[in-house]
Amino acid sequence: MKASELFFPTLREVPSEAEVLSHQLLLRAGFIRKATAGVYSYLPLASRVLKKIMNIVREEMDRAGGQEVILPIVQPAELWKKSGRWEVYGDEMFRLKDRHNRDFALGPTHEEIITTLVDADVHSYRHLPLLLYQIQNKYRDEIRPRFGLMRGREFIMKDLYSFDIDEEGLDVSYHKMYEAYNRIFQRLKLQYRVVEADSGAIGGNESHEFMVLAENGEAEIVYCENCDYGANTEKAVCSLEEPKAAEEEQLEREKVHTPGQRTIQDLLDYMNIPKEKQIKTLIYYADEELVAALVRGDRELNEIKFKNVLGCNQLFMADEAAVKQLCGAGFGSLGPVGLPLKTYIDLEVSQMKNFACGANEDDYHFINVNLGRDFTPAGINDIRNAVTGDSCPVCSAPLYSMRGIEVGHIFKLGTKYSEVLEANYLDQKGREKPMVMGCYGIGISRTMAAAAEQGADENGIVWPLPIAPFEVIIVPVNSKNEEQMQAAWSLYEEFKQEGLETIIDDRDERAGVKFKDADLIGIPLRITIGPRSLQEKQVEIKKRTAKDVELVPLDAVSSRVKLMLKEMSK
Ligand code: ATP
Ligand code: MG
Repeated sequence: MKASELFFPTLREVPSEAEVLSHQLLLRAGFIRKATAGVYSYLPLASRVLKKIMNIVREEMDRAGGQEVILPIVQPAELWKKSGRWEVYGDEMFRLKDRHNRDFALGPTHEEIITTLVDADVHSYRHLPLLLYQIQNKYRDEIRPRFGLMRGREFIMKDLYSFDIDEEGLDVSYHKMYEAYNRIFQRLKLQYRVVEADSGAIGGNESHEFMVLAENGEAEIVYCENCDYGANTEKAVCSLEEPKAAEEEQLEREKVHTPGQRTIQDLLDYMNIPKEKQIKTLIYYADEELVAALVRGDRELNEIKFKNVLGCNQLFMADEAAVKQLCGAGFGSLGPVGLPLKTYIDLEVSQMKNFACGANEDDYHFINVNLGRDFTPAGINDIRNAVTGDSCPVCSAPLYSMRGIEVGHIFKLGTKYSEVLEANYLDQKGREKPMVMGCYGIGISRTMAAAAEQGADENGIVWPLPIAPFEVIIVPVNSKNEEQMQAAWSLYEEFKQEGLETIIDDRDERAGVKFKDADLIGIPLRITIGPRSLQEKQVEIKKRTAKDVELVPLDAVSSRVKLMLKEMSK
């Protein structure tokens, strides 16, 4: 490909709307352009990267026994009403009407469509298991589309659905996908971790997420270096350490005047009460009912765990006005003593003695509050986020935390959809049974962004070789110098013959501009042809990630390049 003909409109300035590096770089390097919030056009370089990711995904899905289909994006509301998700999906679903005023959705996911499809044409155990997948656009009207391709409203996903006769069958399919996903992210040459995940609204029980490690990742994970345990902090089990304060004697409760002191930090500064000796009281609406959650002062409530404990459909923070009316105090002065709400406490709180909390009266706190004597909880559960230093629930070693980008997610669905959508089959004895399902997604466009995020340096993107848009870029230093250009063109022809994916930068630009662009778009190998190439018959080869260049005789370049690419793909 000639750079002069390639459509890659690079930008010198950092686009102001882009917060994370990958988003900035994909815009600057001319890979993507925004159409509207969360909706992007993919330009030629991006299209090449996406195709390579899709090819690897496709190969691994096929190898695992998947069969590719293409399912409709426009989906009738009836199917979603039947599964009950027309309401549950809420505002995240893009909805539209046809000319007859009938309701439709743009597919955010495809359980409804595929389960109905399989139900219509698969009736016997003989035709199971069945693994069907597709790669296409998904539509989700995300509340906060951001970070470019990371959280789009239109994005590319690979989704596979497995149909089995029983749980054991599902275990086999799930394991196949687990393995296939590992192969995929290894082949993509990304640093990632597999973690236990919360299966959220999709339901089911077992679920794993594949996280590309990156400081700017939206998700936080904890992992153990001693064993294999890893989990999304949404899900990570916080096991109870040995009670440390058990021996402490209960002191008499006191009410103290704390004018203007509203936060945990305030109370630390004002009265020197350590955060571990305070508790946070958080008030939520669990569906219609107001409830309270208590965690230690230095911990974060985990809303997902709390929601699971309560078993409610919706959980959201109460507004201060409602809280004040019912509890007698604003957010900064709440506590469990005399609180007229069901109060749920974190496991850790159950071990605390003589702690400080709001007195349900503005500008007052209690100190030396104790469980049992001063209040009775409605439940004692693990409802906080795990943090670095917590002990591993498997082997008790200390856990570490880091951030990641969720690129893949696999779930066991069980019979959740097959039952409501009546996807049954006849077993060997002619009995009707619901199929047992799993679903498995990879965010293709998000994976591209995650790769750009993970590899980037101060000069631009560093694509892993297997998904780089081109493998090699040839840069003649002076495009006005005919000899240099001739040497560059003949090398380019040779590379083409060899099947190397090559760009030749034939633009009439200064060498500095060409080098900057080559770095920015992240081509793994750069070959520079300058005056020395002609005098000494040598060219410079530089890896995108290396500081130094290697000098190679002109007639040995293509074999050297092939060898380097081979090594880089190992
Ligand atoms: P998230 O928690 O990030 O919203 P999810 O759990 O809703 O993700 P799934 O429904 O499991 O996502 O979708 C499968 C995969 O699709 C995800 O692992 C992710 O890689 C990708 N994905 C989901 N939502 C988006 C989005 N808005 N933009 C880009 N990719 C997405
Ligand atoms: Mg989501």
